[in-house]
Amino acid sequence: MPSSQRPWGYFDQSAETGPWSISRAEIDARLRQTLAFCVERSTAYAELYGRAGVRADSFRGMEDLGRLPILTMSDLIARQEQDPPFGGFETVPAEEFHRIYINPGFLWQPGESRYQQTSLAEALCGGGILPGDRVLNTFSYHLWPYAHMLDDSLNMIGATVLPSGTGNAFMQARIMQKIGVTAYMGTPSFLMTIAQRAEAMGLDPTSDLPLEVAVVGAEMLPESLRQRLQDKLGISVRQSYATVYLGCLGYECKEASGLHVPQNMLVEVVDPSTGQPQPPGVAGEVVASNLNPSYPMLRLATGDLSMWMEGDCPCGRTSPRIKGVLGRMDQAVKVRGTFVHPWQLDELFAARPEVFKYQAEVSRHQDQDLLTVKVETMDEVGGELALRRLLERELREFLAVKGQVEVVPRGTIPDFHGKILDRRKWD
Ligand SMILES: [Zn+2]
Repeated sequence: MPSSQRPWGYFDQSAETGPWSISRAEIDARLRQTLAFCVERSTAYAELYGRAGVRADSFRGMEDLGRLPILTMSDLIARQEQDPPFGGFETVPAEEFHRIYINPGFLWQPGESRYQQTSLAEALCGGGILPGDRVLNTFSYHLWPYAHMLDDSLNMIGATVLPSGTGNAFMQARIMQKIGVTAYMGTPSFLMTIAQRAEAMGLDPTSDLPLEVAVVGAEMLPESLRQRLQDKLGISVRQSYATVYLGCLGYECKEASGLHVPQNMLVEVVDPSTGQPQPPGVAGEVVASNLNPSYPMLRLATGDLSMWMEGDCPCGRTSPRIKGVLGRMDQAVKVRGTFVHPWQLDELFAARPEVFKYQAEVSRHQDQDLLTVKVETMDEVGGELALRRLLERELREFLAVKGQVEVVPRGTIPDFHGKILDRRKWD
């Protein structure tokens, strides 16, 4: 079936399109239950929340989430080292888990014999996978949990999995052709490799491969790559955003306009310096909670940056939407107490076609941070002073940080350059 004629489904239509107030009441009830469970049965949460003075009996639900301390990946690593393997976040004896997954950096993750959470199943349906699809799962089944989480989620949907794992693009293209694979899961770059291998084998990827839909993840998906994949393969490509400890935090639907937050997943976008919630349209760090009964993650900071979107999605889902991953927290530099992110500079300079290239530099002078932004202009027509003043004003307004702008000759900024150089020396 050509992908343009495929229907688009839901995992749980009545929940996904029903009034948000009903979902919210259910989430509040489950959140209270999970918190009570955590305090009672998990040694890590009991200690963390005891220290922070969190009381489960006076906790109402999402409105009180901000009272729980934010958990970071470093906390998780430190606690796993202290109390191996799971750090005491588990609410059942460690022997009850069926698997121990190994994430990069020897970070252990317990696995049940079957993944119960529905966030990924909802995402895969939202991205266009239907019951009866034959799905090539090209994520790695070794060590890491993600491929298994997806595999079990496809089982919930009623789709059939080909657990092909990573690598060997020639063989993957042959599998697709021979058995009639209709859906792909994996990274967008690997899908492009498979399409190119198919071409090298003399196949026309549009007509010789029966593929109709791809749900990609684990990498950024630039619009240009999405378009090339869709054109080359004649399919629809949608992305999901997931982290292994939490599950899926957002997915694209048919409209491909922002990422819907799945049911039963609690996503917050917080100001990185204060931990307070950000209003729509203002970027912040994604902090999320899942309500998994045996290994719950409450307020885990992802290190990813996103923002809330406003308005309803034409697909009919009532869940809130985030704008996708805008960048990583660790690429940000703190200047005079304020975070400056590369994407903020990108946004600022995107509106200035006269700027060809830019690079920001943070240095230290007499115990003060100094922000200097070098810019190369499209052509040297003069008016430098006016441009400098304009950009300095915009830096102040957009970044809330005072900075100096220097117009430098073309060729000064190297081709492959960091967008923000931190030249401060701390001793
Ligand atoms: Zn939608």
